[in-house]
Formats: sequence, C-alpha cells, structure tokens
Amino acid sequence: MKITVLGSGTSQGIPIVGCRCPACTSLNPKDKRLRVSVFIETDSIINNKPLRILIDTSPDFRQQMLVNNITDIDAVLYTHYHIDHIMGLDDIRQINQLHRKKVELFANKETAYRIKQTFSYIFDENTYKGGGIPHVNLNEIDLSPFDVFGQKVIPIEYKHGPTNVYGYRIGDFAYLTDCNFIPDTEFTKLKGLKVLIIDALRYRRHETHFSVDEAVEVSLRIGAEKTYFTHMTHDIVHDEASGKLPAGIEFAYDGLTFEV
Ligand SMILES: [Zn+2]
Ligand SMILES: [Zn+2]
Ligand SMILES: [Zn+2]
Repeated sequence: MKITVLGSGTSQGIPIVGCRCPACTSLNPKDKRLRVSVFIETDSIINNKPLRILIDTSPDFRQQMLVNNITDIDAVLYTHYHIDHIMGLDDIRQINQLHRKKVELFANKETAYRIKQTFSYIFDENTYKGGGIPHVNLNEIDLSPFDVFGQKVIPIEYKHGPTNVYGYRIGDFAYLTDCNFIPDTEFTKLKGLKVLIIDALRYRRHETHFSVDEAVEVSLRIGAEKTYFTHMTHDIVHDEASGKLPAGIEFAYDGLTFEV
C-alpha cells in the first residue's frame, strides 16, 4: 500500500499567523505544515481501483486534496473529535459529486457523538435548508478489529491528556497521532510494524502530547523498522532537528509518500 502524509503540523498549522520565528519564516517546504492527516491507497481492490482510506478530515482537507491530486476516497477513519481532526468533513461533498456515492466514516462512540453535534446539519437534514451537505454513513466502532470494504483495520486506544484517542493499524503500518500515553496492553498490537507514524509535538513536555524525547523512547520500544514523527509545532525546524534523531526515526513532512 501507498501512504501520503497530507499534513504534519499542530492544530494552528505552521507557519503560525503573525509569527516570525525560524520555522515560521523558513523557506524550506518541509517547514510548511498543514493540519495532520494521512491518505492510504491500500492493496485491497474496490470497483477495480485500490481502496482509498483517509485518516481524519483536517481543516485543510480541501487544499490537501488539491495539492496531492486526491479525487476519490472510500472511507474516513477518525482518531478523535478535536477540531483540527474533523473540521474539513464538509469537503467530502466533492467526492460524493464526482463518484455519486456515500463515504463511510468510522469513529468511536465519543467521536461519533461529537461529529454529530459539530456537524448537526449533516445528520438532521430538516434543520438545514437550501445548502449542500456531505453524504456519509457514520459507523460507530469499538476496539474490535473491523473491516473496511475487505481491508482489516485494528484500532489502538491511547491517552491524549483526558481524551481517549484511536490510532489505527493497517497491515504493517500504524498511525498514532495525538498521544501522550500508550497502555501496555496496546503495545502488543504494534509488534512487527514496518512503518509507524507517531505524535511528537515539540521539545518541551506537554500535558496531552509526546515531546520529542518521549516519542523517541516510545518509538524505540515499539521498534518499527521506520518511524516518522508528526503533529509538530514551530519548535521543530525540519533540517536542523532531523540530525538529532536516532537512526530509523525522522520527522514527517507534508507530501511525504512511502510504500509499506
Ligand atoms: Zn491534533
Ligand atoms: Zn513560529
Ligand atoms: Zn487532539
């Protein structure tokens, strides 16, 4: 399968409006970070094409589709309900129009509840008159492995401060954003990974995200062949920060693609 990092930045995006720090004024494209999301073209085939799975609909979702030439999505897996992970949902409308199909959404109970609240116009059509709405099926999932058009997906539950977040394992790839504690029980689901993408917010400690040092420690314990960090703030200036990471660990950047 092929994975594309659509966004690797923290909730404000990088550059931050009005900030003149080295990362925010950097001319390196790897320091321009949209809000976090990944796009996966799996090995499963649906309607003679690879099954396409998106993780989260960031506020930059429309721009991310344009930049990466994404014109079809079959399913969206949601990690949690924070606004930087859901706000682009309305832009699923163009996928509906291009392909005359609904898009399947998957979210845990709390995230599904909040998506219904935040996007009430989608789920109660009688209150929203005259404007277009995305056509979606919102599937509530729990920690059991589930099937997305024949592709097995394994949820991994961890802490993001007070919030329980779902990461996902698909084959030998796992995506664990917005994370500051992984319970021992979940590490067993992460054995034998080829590629891991995991939260590493900044150098200083934070109450709801791994710092770079914490992310390095957890990544070495998980032991994927290759690890990429995501959800970075402007503390991280890509080229300078990259030299300080152990072998096998790198900072992701927008537009990064790899095969697993
Ligand atoms: Zn976030
Ligand atoms: Zn800055
Ligand atoms: Zn969050």
